[in-house]
Amino acid sequence: MGASMSLDGLYYQHSGKYSVTGALYAVVVGSVIACACAFVYAYIIVYCPIVYLNALIALGFGAVIGYMCAAMLKQKKVRSDAVAVGITLVVTTVAYYFHWAVWVWALARRGEEPVPFIGLVGLTIFPKLLWEALRAINVEGAWTLRGSAVSGVALWIVWASELAAIYWCSLKTAFSHMDEHPFCETCEEWGVPDPSVLTVNTGDVAELKRRAEAKDLRYIEELGGPKDGSDFTRMDLFSCQRCGSLYTMDMERVQVTASGGKSKEKKSRVLHHLLLSPSEAQSIKKLAEKLKPAALDVPPDTTKAEGASA
Ligand SMILES: [Zn+2]
Repeated sequence: MGASMSLDGLYYQHSGKYSVTGALYAVVVGSVIACACAFVYAYIIVYCPIVYLNALIALGFGAVIGYMCAAMLKQKKVRSDAVAVGITLVVTTVAYYFHWAVWVWALARRGEEPVPFIGLVGLTIFPKLLWEALRAINVEGAWTLRGSAVSGVALWIVWASELAAIYWCSLKTAFSHMDEHPFCETCEEWGVPDPSVLTVNTGDVAELKRRAEAKDLRYIEELGGPKDGSDFTRMDLFSCQRCGSLYTMDMERVQVTASGGKSKEKKSRVLHHLLLSPSEAQSIKKLAEKLKPAALDVPPDTTKAEGASA
């Protein structure tokens, strides 16, 4: 893989720097917010009878925690993927644990006998108590699917899938949000997006990527503005607003297929965080101006009619 080595320095990467106080802030404040989310989540799954909807809500719960962690880390200018993953894991684990305590407590409160708030405190601070309660619930089953109670091994599998869904969604969301914007180390600020600066015909994707890495703007220009809206590549620029010396570019291919009156959009990333010099970024913006009128100048029916009558 000699080719991959020559790509070093072509792409922006987070520096890995972070402040310890910023990281601690994210752990503490993030955990408090995540526990509030866990409380709501546990109550929803106790009272929502639709199992499939609960699965979606589990994914949503994970995504909210992951997004919240990344947003907090970015606010504290953390630009280390390892620190971000670690903190997201800690916060997700706190929320995941607390959701079980609330779930058991909420389930008990549905019964005949009143269960005081201290019950929730006990379940939260004594893991052994929570574990025994869960094992007991597992034997009986907590809910039914197609009329029969789900319990035992089947319920453990459901719980394991729920765990996997929450952690996967949380980490994936946190990582993609952390990775969205470049950070200017000179100004200590996040870059600002300038979306859909330029749109061109896709052509050959591998070639487009290679030429973009070689900063071959002529090739991109020759692709031309999108003829129709069915297969094009969108370019987004990111820049530091303060110094104007950090520029990166993202490319995303968009394929639109129409089937049965509905149009479906398929997006795939061509490249991410390609570093540009300020002059290259300006050239791309100029190219966009140049290609824009051509793209809008799709021959309407009137030109045909004129040609026919002449
Ligand atoms: Zn800057």
